[in-house]
Amino acid sequence: MKAAVFSTPGLENLSIQDVEAPRPGPGEVLIKVRHAGANPLDYNVVTGAVKATPMPHIPGSEFAGVVEEVGPGVEGLQRGDAVVVYNRLYCGHCRHCLAGWTQMCESTGGALIGVATQGGYAEYAVVPARNVEKTRAELREAATLPIGGLTAWNMAYRAGISPGERVAVVGATGNVGVYAVQFAKLLGGEVYAVTRRKDMSAPVLKSIGADYVVTPDEAREAAPFDVVLDPTGAGNWELSYSLLGRMGRYVTAGALTGAEVKLDLRRLYGMQISVIGSTGGRRGDFKLVVRLLESGRIKAVIYKTYGLAEARRALEELRSGDRVGKVLVAI
Ligand SMILES: [Zn+2]
Repeated sequence: MKAAVFSTPGLENLSIQDVEAPRPGPGEVLIKVRHAGANPLDYNVVTGAVKATPMPHIPGSEFAGVVEEVGPGVEGLQRGDAVVVYNRLYCGHCRHCLAGWTQMCESTGGALIGVATQGGYAEYAVVPARNVEKTRAELREAATLPIGGLTAWNMAYRAGISPGERVAVVGATGNVGVYAVQFAKLLGGEVYAVTRRKDMSAPVLKSIGADYVVTPDEAREAAPFDVVLDPTGAGNWELSYSLLGRMGRYVTAGALTGAEVKLDLRRLYGMQISVIGSTGGRRGDFKLVVRLLESGRIKAVIYKTYGLAEARRALEELRSGDRVGKVLVAI
């Protein structure tokens, strides 16, 4: 099969090669991949910032496709089923899995398909059957859910948004941001999409539910907020933390723009602010997110689609200043 592979970390080393197609073992499913997302995680896997195994490695932690073959003992799935893949490996019986927090699995450490296993930038990929979710949604749209959609849902859930609360989404044009806007709105928030590229992104962000699209300076003027959802990292910490009001909740889900921040504890305790971590999402919630897309209550925002041969360009496109939403790789 054809796959995007690298043997040595580095974007320049990612090339299309013919490799042996994997076969599904017991409890596993072989998927013919149709669409895969290009995410900062995939970029970091290829550049070596996130260590991947095995090597040579096929990246791709977010994908959807069609079941090609089921391994021994797999029930409820058959060849031809359209599916999207929950990307956290989980055991299903540790205490965090039993409590529903499958991305916190103690047995796997929350390891990711495409990082700890071969990923979806290939014609075929093998994944555990328990990670496979059937879907009636268009596969190109479903392929935006495993990272972008589910990460945003978990952030909104962890924030505990109540109807009527004021929510700022910082980095609103990103893979996670475009879904964070939608979930904050679904939960009843008054949603401010914060972006430095307001003019070009406002029509899209308003169409998916943002009540206001504002620049960082305008967000400061509109503060205080009850909730700030910020998947971007330290680069926006000063802004995001300053936007919070009394009882405010800041939720982080990534460190793209840096990981180290300075925190004024007096403001934290004096205003009873919460700083909340969020990573990925729960297996059970993935079902709900898929269902929300199928019913049209959330929408995929797709910026560009590249072929597998252009996987490297797809990852480079992540840094494009014009991007709103997801870059996809079609296979
Ligand atoms: Zn577990």
